[in-house]
Amino acid sequence: MTRYIFVTGGVVSSLGKGIAAASIGRMLKSRGLSVSVIKLDPYLNVDPGTMSPYQHGEVFVTIDGSETDLDLGHYERFIDIELTSLSNVTAGQIYTEVIGKERSGTYLGGTIQIIPHVTDVIKSHIRALAEQSGVDVVLVEVGGTVGDIEGQPFIEAIRQMRGDVGRENTFYIHMTLLPYLGSTRELKTKPTQHSVQALRGVGVQPDAIIGRADHEVDQDVKDKIALFCDVKPENVFGLPTLDSVYKVPLYLEEQGVGETVVKALGLPDVAPDLAYWRHIAEIEDEGEERMRIAVVGKYVELHDSYLSVIEALRHAGFHYGRKIDIDWVSSEEIEQQGPERLLSSAMGILVPGGFGPRGVEGMIIAANYARENRIPYLGLCLGMQVMVIEYARNELGLTGANSLELDPETTDPVINLMEDQAGLVATGGTMRLGQYPCVLRAGTRARSAYDVERVQERHRHRYEYNNEYRIRLEEAGLICSGTSPDDSLVEITEVYDHPFMVGSQFHPEFASRPDKAHPLFREFMKAAGEVLREGGQYELPAEELKQVTTNSVGVASGTTAEE
Ligand code: GLN
Repeated sequence: MTRYIFVTGGVVSSLGKGIAAASIGRMLKSRGLSVSVIKLDPYLNVDPGTMSPYQHGEVFVTIDGSETDLDLGHYERFIDIELTSLSNVTAGQIYTEVIGKERSGTYLGGTIQIIPHVTDVIKSHIRALAEQSGVDVVLVEVGGTVGDIEGQPFIEAIRQMRGDVGRENTFYIHMTLLPYLGSTRELKTKPTQHSVQALRGVGVQPDAIIGRADHEVDQDVKDKIALFCDVKPENVFGLPTLDSVYKVPLYLEEQGVGETVVKALGLPDVAPDLAYWRHIAEIEDEGEERMRIAVVGKYVELHDSYLSVIEALRHAGFHYGRKIDIDWVSSEEIEQQGPERLLSSAMGILVPGGFGPRGVEGMIIAANYARENRIPYLGLCLGMQVMVIEYARNELGLTGANSLELDPETTDPVINLMEDQAGLVATGGTMRLGQYPCVLRAGTRARSAYDVERVQERHRHRYEYNNEYRIRLEEAGLICSGTSPDDSLVEITEVYDHPFMVGSQFHPEFASRPDKAHPLFREFMKAAGEVLREGGQYELPAEELKQVTTNSVGVASGTTAEE
């Protein structure tokens, strides 16, 4: 029998509900329970894939190629699970499904209403995840805050679930903000009382309340909330702002959240194993020997747009027991000021994914700076494409080389539109998305990082490395270290004569975990830690790597494209 934990939010958004839900998932998993999570997003977009980074932050890609809310990244990282399209449902998807059924006559001429038709579809998605994953506990996080008009059907659906699956199998957690009033030096509970009133007004009585605050939450504040909101005093928890999200599972565990939840749901209460999380917390506290990594992008003021990249860098730091300092470098500023001042103190340079031409010339300058100064470089998706453009321009002398996305008139489209993307008009969900296999070439840095021959990685792109240039680039020392199994798509490139300059067409950041740093991030960080600048010693891979291996690109092996 699956148990359900519902997490709602009140007072304000951006309380870290996703982190709290992910932390509860971790606390349950650390007790040996199996867990899955579903995020219900009440907005009308079908998915965040077409939303602006200003609106939404990162688009997290699941292994099966869904473009989802960034909270799924928190769930995957904290709980160490792989989620699928079943784990993110938006109002846009729900209404599309209901209207599709209406058009095909499923409702037999009935009047279609929010209750029961829309709520039934919402519940069917929650149950589908429970049935297909077969887990002990499904966490259901409702996006937005109580009182949002578009959220009402979702709150109603989770209200009904208690009747459907039984009181003993459901647990409702409401998370609110406790504002601090400087003049009286106290945390105020009134907004929480109102929020719980709103929740009770739609039929949901919370079993527990988590009050987020900038300060520790004292017992008298908790008692007051308990009295006014009709929740047991021992079920009111405080969660102050901590200096690391990875401390949240430990904090909530200490407060007794884990014990409360498992007892309420009739699950065995064994001591959770959170040893690794304590280890991370220690690293976060030490604060010495920081690694300075420059992240060069166009949305540098929007850190949420690069959330998984930030976390993957931190995980690689954990691997070496070090903290990461990210220098956010605007690629447009590099265009204006040149790279020296902005990049010279970086121990490593990372160029993440992106779309559109703005700021890309600055990223190309950053790649060139990393290459010439022997600074470790990691390119992710666009960051890999940038690396190829830079190499073609400066090592092959193709000064007009570019990606067709960035310059449709380019004389040398070293990055091409993928064949199956040509002619596509619809923008939603039409990129090359999700997990695909990649075969790693022996002797390369990529292969030695992964230490296996074949990997699966997640993609989100429309453009690709142009095989017409492959022989010339390889001979000039830009090695194709990973390709699709049929050798038709280049998935990883690396600069032969460099301590670590690797770019992947896929997004390794989605697969990183706090206790399992992604191999490419780990090796990037290792090289960065060794600070191999000009004149530094590093071992080159075997010379044979520069001999071209290609076979399925329309040019004979071992000849150059000019011949
Ligand atoms: N804009 C590039 C493409 O579509 C890169 C995408 C990305 O970085 N995710 O191929």
